[in-house]
Amino acid sequence: MNARDASAAEPVASTQLLDMPPRQQSLLYHDLGTPQDVLDMRTRVRQVADRHVAPAAWEIGHREEARERFPRALFDELAHAGLFRVPFAADIGGLGLAHPATATAVMIEELAYHSNSVAAIVDVHCILAGHALKHASPALQQRYLAPLLAGQKIGSFATTEPDASTDLSIKAMQTIATFHDDHFIVNGRKRFITNSPVADFVVLLCVDDGRMTELVVDLDSPGVRVGAPDKKMGNHGQLTADIYFDQVKVAADRVVGERGQGLRIALQTLTYGRIGIAASGVGMAQSVFDHSVQRLKTRQAFGKPVAANQHWQFRMAERATEIENARNLYVKAALRMDAGIAFPEPEAAMAKWYGTNLAADIARDGVQVFGGYGFTRELGADASHYHVEEVYRDCKIAEIYEGTNEIQKLVIARSIFGKNITG
Ligand SMILES: Cc1cc2nc3c(=O)[nH]c(=O)nc-3n(C[C@H](O)[C@H](O)[C@H](O)COP(=O)(O)OP(=O)(O)OC[C@H]3O[C@@H](n4cnc5c(N)ncnc54)[C@H](O)[C@@H]3O)c2cc1C
Repeated sequence: MNARDASAAEPVASTQLLDMPPRQQSLLYHDLGTPQDVLDMRTRVRQVADRHVAPAAWEIGHREEARERFPRALFDELAHAGLFRVPFAADIGGLGLAHPATATAVMIEELAYHSNSVAAIVDVHCILAGHALKHASPALQQRYLAPLLAGQKIGSFATTEPDASTDLSIKAMQTIATFHDDHFIVNGRKRFITNSPVADFVVLLCVDDGRMTELVVDLDSPGVRVGAPDKKMGNHGQLTADIYFDQVKVAADRVVGERGQGLRIALQTLTYGRIGIAASGVGMAQSVFDHSVQRLKTRQAFGKPVAANQHWQFRMAERATEIENARNLYVKAALRMDAGIAFPEPEAAMAKWYGTNLAADIARDGVQVFGGYGFTRELGADASHYHVEEVYRDCKIAEIYEGTNEIQKLVIARSIFGKNITG
């Protein structure tokens, strides 16, 4: 049970106020295959997350979406702690780690442990918008990536449209950039764009003369309008909205990479992103696991702890094994990416499907472990609340965004049967 913190936007100074369960990961998981720079980053991010994310998490996860409820103070704390620099090379202001993708995925796991909303905000800011900009010219990187690393500009990344998302084909996509000498005119509409209600710019996938191109567009450009934030089942701190483009003039030098490379850049970026989402699944799973272990040991029924029943012993033994597998999978996919493999399949797809499916399974268990308390957002008697309820709502989207889990299975099946059979 957590004591309610009244001010999410202003994290309290001490984690002493929070009643966090003992971390089971340090007892059960041995990080043998993980390089030292990544282990160090796990420790560092955990300190930041325990101190700043944990106290704010309940408010972030339970208030209805609105522009002014974006957790800006927390975002600034994460920037101040240097977390947005983790994925990047030193020459653009990053930390210059030896294993940046693995460290980034571990960072997402540690943030999701307390709040999947916060993990998603950072995933889109750093991995999607930030990583796509790695393909940009030095001038564009100076203009957008340097302030993104510092937390001075918030990034967003848009592929999805009302009638295109899983299917990102030219036939389905209707956001069109028309080239005129030294600029594009963009018309169209994107949907569910994370961070867009508060972002400064969007990395935008659009159709350009029969191929696809990525453009960086300032969200205060004339003709751009960001709609009202969507009201969602979970991840309430992650603001999403439609972005409308009406005759928007975008300078030709705002192309990321080359014209016509947009789909490849977007798919490679989403592959990185899906390793992050796999890690977020592990973070949520580990968190519910830890809360559940504590509850099973302390809650009494029939004169003994609920954990004394073999049903729960075996169930938790299975879940501990699955968390081990899920973490190893995403770390392996990320290490392959750090080894220079842009599309580390099938591991990235395996990790995303397995880790997020596991989070949903464990969240269902967690609510069951807590019984009626797990189903309750806030208890009338004493305003107590239980983290498992929030994860039960938050975990579902991880099975959907950055490539649905059906598409992950299609990617794995392609590795087995070949594209000529799977399509
Ligand atoms: C909270 C949230 C944040 C998001 N953030 C972003 C963002 O920042 N940027 C962005 O561009 N998008 C974002 N999205 C969009 C997200 O990536 C899409 O919702 C997702 O890709 C699925 O697309 P869709 O919702 O259009 O579903 P559809 O494409 O309509 O798919 C519906 C179902 O059909 C299934 N399906 C489709 N094709 C096949 C097939 N060949 N075989 C089997 N099943 C299939 C899918 O797996 C899915 O279960 C976000 C969405 C949400 C809800």
